[in-house]
Amino acid sequence: MELNRLDGLYRDAILDHRRSPRNHEPLSAPDIAGDAINPFCGDEIHLQLRLDDEQRISGVGLQGEGCSINLAAGSMLTEAIRGKALDEVDSLVQLIRRMMRGDDEAEAMLHAEGDLTNLAGVRDYPVRIKCALLPLSALTQGIESYKSSTGQL
Ligand code: ZN
Repeated sequence: MELNRLDGLYRDAILDHRRSPRNHEPLSAPDIAGDAINPFCGDEIHLQLRLDDEQRISGVGLQGEGCSINLAAGSMLTEAIRGKALDEVDSLVQLIRRMMRGDDEAEAMLHAEGDLTNLAGVRDYPVRIKCALLPLSALTQGIESYKSSTGQL
């Protein structure tokens, strides 16, 4: 999409994460790995997580390909999930999905979670909402397969 159609504030944050993606080094031997692909626009996300003894996320690696929205959303997500327990990550994912559906209360609650609220600027472009949500799919898929492999589901 033409990023210049986005409001300036949103655009600056998205471009910043796109230019300098956070936590993009692949993690070797991760506890959790998730992948998601959107064949329609070529977006890809590959995510690795490490858990500490208290089952909190202590390491994050995310590699993406595709459009700026996808890459920026992935980068923002890596910052927000670090240090969280898996059930806290579930709550965060719900909040982000609600915000992208236009829920202002969810958006207000997400202000404590770094740059993620800048993704709200994408809501006016329904085709691109999928791009912003793809990193969440990788995260959810990874956590679900981890839980089923460890008997937590
Ligand atoms: Zn995309």
